[in-house]
Amino acid sequence: MGPATLDQTGLAGEAARRFLSSPRRMLIDGTWVEAISGARIEVLDPATGGALTSVPAADARDVDRAVAAARRAFEGDWSDMRPVERERLLLKLADLLEARADAFAELEALDSGKLLVMARHGDLSIAIDSLRYNAGWATKIEGATITPSFRYVPDLRFSAHTRREPVGVVGQIIPWNFPLVMAVWKIAPALAAGCTVVLKPAEDTPLTALALGELVAEAGFPDGVVNIVTGDGAAGAALVDHPDVDKIAFTGSTEVGQTIQRRAAATMKRVSLELGGKSPVVVLKDANLEQAIQGAAMAIFFNHGQVCTAGSRLLVERPIYEAVVEGLGQVAEALRLGAGFDPASQMGPLISARQRARVKGYVEAGEREGGRLVAGGDAVSGPGFFFRPTVFADTTPQMQICREEIFGPVVAAMPFDEPQEALRLANDTSFGLGASLWTNDLSLANRMVPKLRAGTVWVNCHNVLDPAVPFGGLKLSGYGKELGHSAVELYTEAKTVTVAHV
Ligand code: NAD
Repeated sequence: MGPATLDQTGLAGEAARRFLSSPRRMLIDGTWVEAISGARIEVLDPATGGALTSVPAADARDVDRAVAAARRAFEGDWSDMRPVERERLLLKLADLLEARADAFAELEALDSGKLLVMARHGDLSIAIDSLRYNAGWATKIEGATITPSFRYVPDLRFSAHTRREPVGVVGQIIPWNFPLVMAVWKIAPALAAGCTVVLKPAEDTPLTALALGELVAEAGFPDGVVNIVTGDGAAGAALVDHPDVDKIAFTGSTEVGQTIQRRAAATMKRVSLELGGKSPVVVLKDANLEQAIQGAAMAIFFNHGQVCTAGSRLLVERPIYEAVVEGLGQVAEALRLGAGFDPASQMGPLISARQRARVKGYVEAGEREGGRLVAGGDAVSGPGFFFRPTVFADTTPQMQICREEIFGPVVAAMPFDEPQEALRLANDTSFGLGASLWTNDLSLANRMVPKLRAGTVWVNCHNVLDPAVPFGGLKLSGYGKELGHSAVELYTEAKTVTVAHV
């Protein structure tokens, strides 16, 4: 089934249409500004390829202005603000977002190509919950007290404690797959911790971050506490190189993450990196077959495969291998592609023509290397950047489609004969973000979980993330856990205070 062609913007509500009716500006020091160069980036609807609006293309000079504003704010009243007031501001922001959730979901669906229903009930709910969850941390940041043993000076005693202090000015760089959720996962813990931020959304999907900027001002955050700078990789690089940025929090590709880590060394910035993945879905022979098929489909086709934890390698125990592959192929063939505003759509387009060409290149490599194409394999002709959900069977670990992150709806399946082999295959990757096990044998699952080299292991589920549950990767998937209490630790540093009892 080909995608429907819709003028989606015309279907949006008044608030979203108003937002799109004029070129957008970016937020620096509480003011909406153009880039100094005047350059702009066009923002497209991936379902139609049509232009939605445009945003400023910041360069190093704009980044410099934003960093200066964030520094002034950090050293101004923001640092004296009581934790409970930071909490109240974040809760207010959550309330405002909840009140405008429909308009935000529409903007997100238009900008990223995701289904409106997913944006409304997935992305918006997660973003609102995450703001509230992190608001609570503002009042719960604690250090430790320590009793030193140092006694070399007779009769002199010491006590020591640690204070967790905000890292300072944080540069935050995010990708296009969950634009609003990524923005919130970055700014909420940083603000709870007392940092100020310069957020750079992805050039493909800057709209909901800018809309969030409007709510930041409305909620009453002081000017300069949140700055949102739109631009491409050059703007991100300027943030990484800036000497007055104390930390970079990055979510994106491993390649750019590696560049950031190298460049940040020059100023010894703190860095946390949420990078790519090649997550295995391991189906054991006792698993509930129907659940495992639906689970494997959701693991790879959710958000059109553009998920860092996408279950892109499917490992199935041999007795049920053919049944799982066949079932997954049927699910893939039945998925209805279409624009996010069409209620009949079950899967939207990829983010860009470039991404679609990249995915096609991987599919061709898979065919060349001898993978058996069970479903999909092609782009859909017509407007928009649609690509059919694709299933490869009989793949081997050396194939490119099994080693590299495709970031599209393409899964590579292979059989295994016993759990030890499954573990070996699952860990045979340079990534370490997520993994899922599908089994009804709890003791087998408990034995396998510690052996899987991944930041998150799901049992009988996949892609389940929650603001309260730490999330992050190993190996080339990066380091630093976001979400949960770990997120606040990412944005604070321990200062040690030792007191002589003279
Ligand atoms: P990308 O790395 O190309 O871009 C991410 C961001 O970095 C964008 O804002 C981009 O403008 C910026 N950027 C590009 N070059 C830069 C540079 N030299 N210095 C600083 N910033 C630069 O990634 P993408 O294509 O937007 O997103 C897809 C990738 O993101 C995938 O690899 C995916 O796995 C990863 N991702 C990871 C997670 C996670 O939590 N681990 C979540 C979502 C996406």
